[in-house]
Amino acid sequence: MEQFDFNLERVIKIIKDKDCRKAGLQFPEGLKRQAINVAALLEEKTGTKVIISGNPCFGACDVDLTLAGRVDILFHFGHAKIGEYDNVVFIEARSDIDVTPAVKKALEMLKNDRIGLITTVQHVHKLEEVSLFLRENGKESVIGKGDLRTCYPGQVLGCNFSAARIDCDEYLYIGGGIFHPLGVAIATRKRVIAADPYMNRAVEVAPEKFLRKRSGYIAKAMDAEVFGIIVSSKSGQHRMELALRLREMANKHSKKGYIVLMDLVTPEQLLAFKADAYVNTACPRITIDDAERFHVPVLTPQEFEVVMGEKEWGNAGMDEILEEK
Ligand code: SF4
Repeated sequence: MEQFDFNLERVIKIIKDKDCRKAGLQFPEGLKRQAINVAALLEEKTGTKVIISGNPCFGACDVDLTLAGRVDILFHFGHAKIGEYDNVVFIEARSDIDVTPAVKKALEMLKNDRIGLITTVQHVHKLEEVSLFLRENGKESVIGKGDLRTCYPGQVLGCNFSAARIDCDEYLYIGGGIFHPLGVAIATRKRVIAADPYMNRAVEVAPEKFLRKRSGYIAKAMDAEVFGIIVSSKSGQHRMELALRLREMANKHSKKGYIVLMDLVTPEQLLAFKADAYVNTACPRITIDDAERFHVPVLTPQEFEVVMGEKEWGNAGMDEILEEK
């Protein structure tokens, strides 16, 4: 079974060194089941009082600032750092799962010689090993640096594919799920093979079906008169300037745009508003993952530009939150 290394010795050392009397713990949804064990261990080893964040958490963009304001140090688990905070320490979770069997399957599917390697932070420590394996099998690998939003070469986020903007023929993605490799395929227009160590399989990413669905939402939003422009209040997702620019664009095309500031963006939260369609400037994954649950079309900023006639659909690309170096 997959184990995550939280490097709790480091957490204990920080608590002791900083004489931390009250520590906050924040875990993403998939790791919340570990929270009570970690809290018990830290209290036992350090004598600090622990407070666990019970709020939903989906990324390093989503630091519980209310809890951070009530403790000496907030330990945010499971993600690589995004942003600067006085008393927040990011504790990444590295997976010990063996990626080689899935990479071996992927090798048979690679058609070119120069391979761009990409992954999430959970497996970023395995990229050198994969690179060596590819070299032994006659392939050259390239690992991109990314931008300021990412911490490691080759690391991609659901909102940032900057590490994939490299000179290569095709990509090998290592990790679970389809969102990240799909994003890379759409952002770069190149072939992506996804090696999934959890399912022990490799698949070629096919963005066509996804793009067809998205063009359906664009078509539905063409008649919309009133747009809600969603802005996240989360520090790492807040894009008010972009929202204001989109609102101006709506006005220019004789449409109405209203800015809606929200913390948690869910289909249920949007039900009460009478907008014909929404544009989401919060986490780009919300637009995609929850698409079928929204009662009206929810567009990415790029898709909205297509609806306004300011952009060609073929050039729309993925929504990304980039922080250039
Ligand atoms: S904005 Fe979304 S995709 Fe980006 S880090 Fe946050 S949760 Fe992940």
